Amino acid sequence: MNRPVLVVGGGPAGLSAANALAMAGQRVVLVDKADRLGGAPILSGYAKLVPSGEWAKDAIGGMVRRVESNKLIDVRKNATVKTFTGSPGDFRAALSDGKTVEASAAVLCTGFTHFDSVNKPEWGFGTYPDVVTTTQVEQMLSSGKGVRCPSDGRVPERVAILLCVGSRDRQIGREWCSKICCTVSSNLAMEIRETLPKCNVYIYYMDIRTFGLYEDTYYWKSQEEFKVKYIKARIAEVTSDGKRLIVKGEDTLVKRPITIPFDMVVHAIGMDPNVDNMTLSAVFDVKLEKHGHIAKASTYSNMSATSHPGVFVAGAATGPETIDDSIAQGQSAAMAALTASQGAMKEAAE
Ligand SMILES: Cc1cc2nc3c(=O)[nH]c(=O)nc-3n(C[C@H](O)[C@H](O)[C@H](O)COP(=O)(O)OP(=O)(O)OC[C@H]3O[C@@H](n4cnc5c(N)ncnc54)[C@H](O)[C@@H]3O)c2cc1C
Ligand code: SF4
Repeated sequence: MNRPVLVVGGGPAGLSAANALAMAGQRVVLVDKADRLGGAPILSGYAKLVPSGEWAKDAIGGMVRRVESNKLIDVRKNATVKTFTGSPGDFRAALSDGKTVEASAAVLCTGFTHFDSVNKPEWGFGTYPDVVTTTQVEQMLSSGKGVRCPSDGRVPERVAILLCVGSRDRQIGREWCSKICCTVSSNLAMEIRETLPKCNVYIYYMDIRTFGLYEDTYYWKSQEEFKVKYIKARIAEVTSDGKRLIVKGEDTLVKRPITIPFDMVVHAIGMDPNVDNMTLSAVFDVKLEKHGHIAKASTYSNMSATSHPGVFVAGAATGPETIDDSIAQGQSAAMAALTASQGAMKEAAE
């Protein structure tokens, strides 16, 4: 029998890779540093997902249950990989829990780290309790308690969502677009309007990137059916007059300064490279691309390959990705790992 495939990270990409491998009869060891599987949608308590509208706990929770009940998948939570040596078909990984895994191939599905809004201090996060992030709004909605101002629990009458916080910002070294936050923000704005019909929601943007089919189902729908207002602006700062938050900047369409009061300001935070990537790069001997994501070795021939033969990558570990694309990449990496693992076994038998 060939050795199991080591999958590192049990978010949407890793769950999908592990399930695809097991469906093909391949044993898997799935290692995650967290105490729960599910990745960002579960660990950060996302609410209704783009584009399906399903609750994250149902959609991704279902993937977790499927993996945890599969006898071919050995799940190791609260664990990381300390060393990784050998060659394709014959790798050896030492885990932080003291166990050793012999593996035929590895798939890195270690995802991303949410941008920490304290790195954008002029926009009020960390100074004013009613300046929150999109993940906090997701948690308010998924907890069933609804969107409330953290300072005093009141229902907000006016909410501003600021896009591109920690993305497309060269001054703080984040040049990339995080791809999904425009659409996620439109989705959250509609959820706020649905649950609090008297609340006015404004989205402040540089550009709107509700890409592909999301243009009408999120951007236009949020305006036409839910009366969400979009303002093209450069935001300078978020302050307070003691009663309300004040968003200051310039409306870049009419080229006039704006000073507008709000009860709550939401940062649409971006997707940073996983803070562990330097360590993962050293342990698995894989190259990182210039921003610090795990580099793909090829774009077209084998999209899951890394610079290390036998080690593959999928999902937001490679850069900002959506859940559905991460799942597709997990399946693609599973196929690549299976092929590599069977190839190595065949070579050994000859
Ligand atoms: C606010 C917000 C809302 C979003 N909403 C949506 C949405 O509605 N729809 C959508 O398509 N996308 C959404 N996204 C994007 C979505 O979060 C990602 O597409 C998805 O989480 C990527 O899955 P992944 O498995 O690649 O990575 P992750 O979800 O980041 O999972 C990575 C896993 O690896 C583990 N891990 C990390 N490092 C290590 C290590 N060193 N050793 C072991 N384990 C490790 C982590 O614990 C985690 O379980 C949203 C993003 C944000 C920021
Ligand atoms: S998806 Fe939208 S909010 Fe996110 S970085 Fe790109 S343009 Fe900014």
